Amino acid sequence: MLNVKKFTFNPFSENTYVVTDQLNNSVIIDPGCYYKAEQNELDNYILKNKLKLKSILHTHSHLDHMFGTAYLADKYDLDLWICKEDLVTYESYEKVCEVYGIPITFSPNPTPKFFDLNQLFEIEGINFEILFVPGHSPGHVAFYNQENNFLINGDCLFDNSIGRTDLPGGNHQQLINSIKNEIFPLPDETLVYCGHGNETTIKSEKSSNPFLY
Ligand SMILES: [Zn+2]
Ligand SMILES: [Zn+2]
Repeated sequence: MLNVKKFTFNPFSENTYVVTDQLNNSVIIDPGCYYKAEQNELDNYILKNKLKLKSILHTHSHLDHMFGTAYLADKYDLDLWICKEDLVTYESYEKVCEVYGIPITFSPNPTPKFFDLNQLFEIEGINFEILFVPGHSPGHVAFYNQENNFLINGDCLFDNSIGRTDLPGGNHQQLINSIKNEIFPLPDETLVYCGHGNETTIKSEKSSNPFLY
């Protein structure tokens, strides 16, 4: 049984997820902690639950999903996994900060490792099928755990909405195809964790998402 803990961080109200197995092995997905208080909140959770952090995973590397990456990688000596096609997004971090007028506090760090899209990604008792779902960003992936029936899908599918596609590397039709071909075939009852906002289910989005019909 995996535990999924959600935090909502930074001015973009981004959802950060900590996934933990029964032996307290953990991965952090999209660490968006930006302010010191947010870093402290995450640190306290890690400490209190005696988590053994293993890795950081990015669904994609937009700035709001990686404000905390360098901090956590450094503090807990973690490696970082992203999709190869999203390296261009990862490397544009400083430039995008500049565009948004956000003070640059670090360079993209560490050097990421790349998911193998054809294999199950496994760390201790945690495993994910890596779904390649570009459209919101060129190398966006989603993490599906069949046994526990959930999907962590970043900024693809939202509760009654979909990700924006007007940012560099975005493509509307590609996003629609990713959702219909990769996400909607999952079981109806799959719980979908989103990069912003509430959780939803495949069933609910299939029946009522206005952007997909
Ligand atoms: Zn995004
Ligand atoms: Zn986002």
